[in-house]
Amino acid sequence: MSDEIMTTKPKGGKSAGRTGEELDHDVLILGSGAAGLSLALRLPSDLRVAVVSKRELTEGNTLYAQGGISAVLHETDSITSHIEDTLDAGAGLCDPDVVKVVVERGPDNVRWLLEQGVQFTREREAGGALAYHLTREGGHSHRRVVHAADATGREVETTLGEMVRARPNVEIFERHIAVDLITAAKLGAADNRCLGAYVLDLDAQRVRACRARFVVLATGGASKVYLFTTNPDVSTGDGIAMAWRSGCRVANMEFIQFHPTCLYHPEAKSFLITEALRGEGARLLLPDGSRFMPRFDERAELAPRDVVARAIDHEMKRLGAECVYLDISHKDPAFIKEHFPTVYARCLDFGIDMTREPIPVVPAAHYTCGGVLCDLNAQTDLPGLYAIGETAYTGLHGANRMASNSLLECLVFAELAAAHIRRIAPQVPPPPAARPWDESRVTDSDEEVVVAHNWDELRRFMWDYVGIVRSNKRLERAKRRVDLLRYEIREYYSSFRVSNDLLELRNLVEVADLIILSAQSRRESRGLHYNLDFPKTDDAFQRKPTVLIPDNYSPRAP
Ligand SMILES: Cc1cc2nc3c(=O)[nH]c(=O)nc-3n(C[C@H](O)[C@H](O)[C@H](O)COP(=O)(O)OP(=O)(O)OC[C@H]3O[C@@H](n4cnc5c(N)ncnc54)[C@H](O)[C@@H]3O)c2cc1C
Repeated sequence: MSDEIMTTKPKGGKSAGRTGEELDHDVLILGSGAAGLSLALRLPSDLRVAVVSKRELTEGNTLYAQGGISAVLHETDSITSHIEDTLDAGAGLCDPDVVKVVVERGPDNVRWLLEQGVQFTREREAGGALAYHLTREGGHSHRRVVHAADATGREVETTLGEMVRARPNVEIFERHIAVDLITAAKLGAADNRCLGAYVLDLDAQRVRACRARFVVLATGGASKVYLFTTNPDVSTGDGIAMAWRSGCRVANMEFIQFHPTCLYHPEAKSFLITEALRGEGARLLLPDGSRFMPRFDERAELAPRDVVARAIDHEMKRLGAECVYLDISHKDPAFIKEHFPTVYARCLDFGIDMTREPIPVVPAAHYTCGGVLCDLNAQTDLPGLYAIGETAYTGLHGANRMASNSLLECLVFAELAAAHIRRIAPQVPPPPAARPWDESRVTDSDEEVVVAHNWDELRRFMWDYVGIVRSNKRLERAKRRVDLLRYEIREYYSSFRVSNDLLELRNLVEVADLIILSAQSRRESRGLHYNLDFPKTDDAFQRKPTVLIPDNYSPRAP
């Protein structure tokens, strides 16, 4: 299935084009969200670490996370209950061993964040003592989400970012975008291994070969493949596409979570209205003011996200409505302003006072449950390559991610990857010199419009045909279109110098194809994947993740 393993770049032999210098580190971390930054902080200080980020250090999904991080922190809660809720949301596709490890590591990881200086919201308990305020979100049977008001991600990301900047063993490369992985197989070696990555310096416009003994993909999700998304621009699935091109398996790509409530306003770009609002009693209303969630699920507004998103999609299509409404105006205005300051201020920017009126909302692509298949050490199929955070498929989320489990997964798998790297580092030799990037046979693009046009086309048909509700016909239509785009982009990539937009588009098309192939192979509806032609859940698919295997895959030696 994979056909871009050997592109025209890099070429062997003497380089006649512009080349950048080579960089050399012990650990190369691609991505600087919660996953990448916590890994950088957890690695031993005698390892030389590079953190590469395609925008400024803090830009990514983590910065925008509002709700919080789930962990068992209250005496009335239990590990068993958090495990059960996660398995329940995952609809028969979670890996129970992984769920257990992640949930058990939760409290320690929250404590680790506190040690780094992260400040979570606290409240005075009945006895007068200060305790962390825990909120409750969809799918959770207890209050177990620790948060920093409604800007948890910003607090985590900026605190960890400052800590990483202060680390003498960590070198940061902002505005550098990874292009592809360097592997021993591409250099003709029999024993394959990841040796580093080619990285484009967006300011100097040159590609550097970055060698490393260990490479970690922490590049986040792929929701930019859809027209409407809560994600920032960086979420283009780069890590998933790079790993796939290098022979790694990917899993469960059909499970894209659509957040039910994104602010609906012509000038608001992807602003999410946190689920915690529904946790605190907000109700979903139709344009005529009537409540509809109780008709769809007994948990009403607190049903898991897929149920809520599909109910909204159904009602919007049935009524031809442009949006529905989320109403918390029955609560005390002081409570709303204290608990949701960011949402309150943002809504006011658009003339909506949520203490007095309902907020117009629509669903939008939010979270990529699938990704690069990895084990409990975060190792992928390619020796030396790890995947952590939203880019990875660990088995935690199954067919549906439970709210606030994803930041937890970032932290725990960063911890597990760091422990594994620390353990095996003494036995792993430095990688050989990499081939320099060669642009001798490419020119500057003559028609940038091809990239812009294909970006729009891809995101539109993915939204229309591979969105919240799918069908066999829609998936076939999408597959025909994605095949054509892949062909065009391959041609374009072979002929012209790489640019940020071209690289992201190339990755988005790859990821779109993986989503479609996965959706086509799942001949049932389960969790986040809903197909009108197979509307029922089929027990034959129970415990069976969708695993896609690239043509150049070879199993890792035990
Ligand atoms: C609006 C919003 C609200 C959310 N709320 C919550 C919540 O309350 N609780 C929760 O648990 N989860 C929440 N999530 C999900 C959660 O934020 C993400 O799953 C998590 O932050 C992902 O972290 P990450 O480190 O894997 O990736 P990100 O934080 O997305 O970071 C990815 C990094 O990779 C870099 N990158 C990408 N491609 C390349 C490349 N080719 N080269 C170099 N660098 C690259 C990016 O620049 C960025 O630094 C929310 C998500 C969104 C969008």
